[in-house]
Amino acid sequence: MKIAIYPGSFDPITKGHVNIVERAAQLFDKVITLVGVNVKKNNLFSEEERLEMVRLATAHIPNAEADTWHGLTVDYAVKHKGIAIIRGIRAVSDYEYEYQVAMTNSKMQPEINTVLLFPDEKYSYLTSSLIRELAQHGKEIEDFIPDCVAEKLREKF
Ligand code: ADP
Repeated sequence: MKIAIYPGSFDPITKGHVNIVERAAQLFDKVITLVGVNVKKNNLFSEEERLEMVRLATAHIPNAEADTWHGLTVDYAVKHKGIAIIRGIRAVSDYEYEYQVAMTNSKMQPEINTVLLFPDEKYSYLTSSLIRELAQHGKEIEDFIPDCVAEKLREKF
């Protein structure tokens, strides 16, 4: 059983994130989307809300699961027998940060591979923060996020 862990803030999950889960689900037997805490970010949605949205948005993928975790991704991966950490990469600007995280993770757990996946081109510029801003100003967001997430965002503002 090849298990991959896809960690992130998912505040909220976008169609770009879902696209990455779909791709990872084709490569691995099971993909666990891991809603975590990024100390550098102030979250709009609570951990429970983010987890619920991830579950709803990935419900169509049979081998996708979701969970939350407050620790390091590598520790979760070891505990749940994950062999890979999935990260999505959009532009070159993502690379620097992803490289640092991947190298640090591999220092701690050399046998766990980081797998970087590109989303479909049409999602390659999407960020959760831009979507939050559009929603805050009452703009159309339906093209960027799953319907279930759009509903929750509208409730928020
Ligand atoms: P984090 O706070 O860990 O960066 P995010 O929720 O912002 O969490 O992102 C989780 C992962 O998904 C990261 O690897 C990020 O680069 C990737 N990602 C974010 N948006 C997209 C997108 N539109 N397409 C592909 N990957 C994405």
